[in-house]
Amino acid sequence: MNTPTLPSSRDDCLARDAADPLQPLRAQFDIAEGLIYLDGNSLGVAPRATAARVQQVLRDEWARDLIRSWNTAGWMDLPARIGNKIGRLIGAAPGECLVADSTSLNLYKVLSAALGLAGAAGAAAGARRVIVSERSNFPTDLYIAQSLAKQHGCTLQLVDDAAELPGLLAGLAGRLAVLMLTQVNYRSGARHDMAALGAAAHAAGGLVIWDLAHSAGAIEVDLHRDGADFAVGCGYKYLNGGPGAPAFVWAHPRHAQGFWQPLSGWLGHAAPFRFSPDYQPAPGIARYLCGTPPILSLAALECGVDTVLAAEPLGGMAAVRAKSVALSELFITLAEARCGALGVRLASPREAALRGSQVSLSLAPPLHEAGYAVMQALIARQVIGDFRAGDPARLHAVPHLLRFGFTPLYIGHTQVWDAVHQLQQVLAGGEWRDARFQQQAAVT
Ligand SMILES: *Cc1c(COP(=O)(O)O)cnc(C)c1O
Repeated sequence: MNTPTLPSSRDDCLARDAADPLQPLRAQFDIAEGLIYLDGNSLGVAPRATAARVQQVLRDEWARDLIRSWNTAGWMDLPARIGNKIGRLIGAAPGECLVADSTSLNLYKVLSAALGLAGAAGAAAGARRVIVSERSNFPTDLYIAQSLAKQHGCTLQLVDDAAELPGLLAGLAGRLAVLMLTQVNYRSGARHDMAALGAAAHAAGGLVIWDLAHSAGAIEVDLHRDGADFAVGCGYKYLNGGPGAPAFVWAHPRHAQGFWQPLSGWLGHAAPFRFSPDYQPAPGIARYLCGTPPILSLAALECGVDTVLAAEPLGGMAAVRAKSVALSELFITLAEARCGALGVRLASPREAALRGSQVSLSLAPPLHEAGYAVMQALIARQVIGDFRAGDPARLHAVPHLLRFGFTPLYIGHTQVWDAVHQLQQVLAGGEWRDARFQQQAAVT
């Protein structure tokens, strides 16, 4: 990749931000002046439009128009309408992507469907019964896979290092049911090669499911080009849909009809308002709906997705990605230059092409246990990232991480500069040792 020169002073950063074509997008967000929010990979910032839109749904569509709004306000169309908008960010054609339920539930649906297509859901001889993922995948993905493996008598095989995947997949030819991965790792920000791994899974006779929780709205994704079979993703991270926002689900059109997903609720029926006692799945992705969609949450999610689509006339996801890379490179360079001697180590891939939109840092001994307190001290200085615990027994291999997400819609170069300055202050002064930063809250 052609890396532009990095700004070398705070004034350089200010100039870079002033010339940034994406800079106007920040005004879309309701974010306190002076707050440096580097946690959009966990919970995106509230769009300004959301409060008014949700108010309108409450007041006009619900309170005034009541049940008529299912038709008159287009409530029934929201899952497909917002799904189509998200589809534009991930290379899905209209009608292929749907908003429904949570990422966990959608994983359950698509993994069930993929196992069904592999024959693993039945007792047939020759069925493919191995699910492959990686140990560092997000826990809910692994838990859902464990549950379905148990239910269908499949095995779940996990790799510790993504480099093992091609060899493992080749060795499972004829036995692989599904390769199920999160494209961008929630801990390290490391990004898989979707096309190469998809091809390897297909060569072994399996299907591939991608969790796009840290991809959608963060990096360019092209599910068709890169040979995906199924995908799911999250509405409240880079899509700014609000806490617990509904998630999305995509199936390649050649699979969408191939199998009944197991959560066969009435709204995934071909004709819900016929109230038939017998389930007949709706054609295509619509069968991935289960129950009544959460309209207030969908209204908020649509505002969030619109903040990302607002980048389309400004260069779209290519421009968002280019700025994300620039911000991440600046962060890494500054963090190593200014905080390296204080114990900070890069815990994400160094090469931009191998990362998503997040950079993780770890702390070298003797600070290797101090990550949580350091992050708390940083948050007290108005720089919000988050902390992900490592494996206490093997901190050298799975270290505690300080995570920093770079959402180019509302983060600029100057904030990156200032964030590293604050980190340096926290470490150099030892203020993280203060007792108030040691108290672990329930949510880190
Ligand atoms: C955030 C995230 C989820 C969240 O799942 P929920 O069902 O919304 O709680 C799932 N998978 C990955 C990879 C995530 O990063």
